[in-house]
Amino acid sequence: MSVSGTLVAVTDGKMPMRAKVASSVSRTAAAFSRAAGRGDGSVIGGWIGLKIDPDLLRNLASGRAIALVSGTNGKTTTTRFTAAALGVLGPVATNSFGANMPTGHTSALARAGSTPFAVLEVDEHYLARVIDETTPRVVALLNLSRDQLDRAKEVAMMAQMWRTALAAHPDMHVVANADDPMVVWSAVNAAHVVWFSAGQRWMDDSWVCPECGSPINRAQGDWWCTGCPLRRPVAQWRVEEDGVVDPKGDWHLVKLQLPGHVNVGNAATALAVAAEFGVRPIEAVPRLASVASVAGRYAQVDRDGRNIRLLLAKNPASWLEAFDMAEVAPTLLSINARDPDGFDTSWLYDVDFSPLRGRQVFITGDRAYDLAVRLEVNSVAFRHVHTFDEAVQATPPGRLEVIANYTAFQDIRAELDRVN
Ligand SMILES: [Zn+2]
Repeated sequence: MSVSGTLVAVTDGKMPMRAKVASSVSRTAAAFSRAAGRGDGSVIGGWIGLKIDPDLLRNLASGRAIALVSGTNGKTTTTRFTAAALGVLGPVATNSFGANMPTGHTSALARAGSTPFAVLEVDEHYLARVIDETTPRVVALLNLSRDQLDRAKEVAMMAQMWRTALAAHPDMHVVANADDPMVVWSAVNAAHVVWFSAGQRWMDDSWVCPECGSPINRAQGDWWCTGCPLRRPVAQWRVEEDGVVDPKGDWHLVKLQLPGHVNVGNAATALAVAAEFGVRPIEAVPRLASVASVAGRYAQVDRDGRNIRLLLAKNPASWLEAFDMAEVAPTLLSINARDPDGFDTSWLYDVDFSPLRGRQVFITGDRAYDLAVRLEVNSVAFRHVHTFDEAVQATPPGRLEVIANYTAFQDIRAELDRVN
């Protein structure tokens, strides 16, 4: 491990001296943190860099063509796909480890050195600030639903924040999900907007119109407000079977290593964003197929004749997505309720677990008993296991799907890393 090398790696001659020093120190701190085994170091590195130069993110962003990707769900995967697609044009900086606040963006850009392009995943709460500081060419808006119940800002408040942020930057191109009424309301007045249709599996946070408070009606993929003109715009990019239709009407087969219809939707979004930079789908599609896992998610591990696949489900909407991605195979569900997960597990009652009926289901984690009660209500048979290994041993050879929330996912990854 070489920390000293990062000190002399300041390459961008256009940056102010303070920014150069801050960028260099930021990279060094991140490298030390990695060496100490404290994750990828991007948060501490970015934090130190911003202490030295509060304008560091702005300075590092200057001169790059940038895409921001935000929303409640799918942003890590969509960011990864978009970075892969933009790779057609040249080197792309990206925060691929899911550090999606300004400290993480600062660290990612400092670490990448000068690149012509950057694709950054942005926590939805920070989108306005990051738009101000990075002046992106394109911002992609995926969806808005509640995250963990005990920490979420109201969805409508978030939509208002986005709407205000977009209004302040009329030159920016917006790529937005036509299927989510909250996203449409936040983007509908933007000067340059391209709509994509990636579906909306989770609708419980958008039954009421954000404009006028009237009910929203839905039928066959369409939606409209019953009290005002807000309605689903026509999507220029859409998913059709296992492919994506572009604005010219051409259909492109999208073969992915990542599972589920949800990820074809994420691919459609990435293609739409890349097109704003001039990348044609025919060039981008093969690069999407190269993405095998995203920060450990979807990773497959072979152990004792079982092929174990890890799916992260962090909030109600992403549980439904995980059920879409999982094969009909033995399934282990693991739920914790530690700080990063949120302490309140009552959201379990908002998720329909009935797709798991008939599968061999195991449950584990700190809150396995909350899950047990929930599964009883849905008449899903299950077995409680105390360790991950107990589930593996009880599964016949073949696929084992693991669906876990945030810290439970990390626990299982750590357990797998120990034996591989
Ligand atoms: Zn309305």
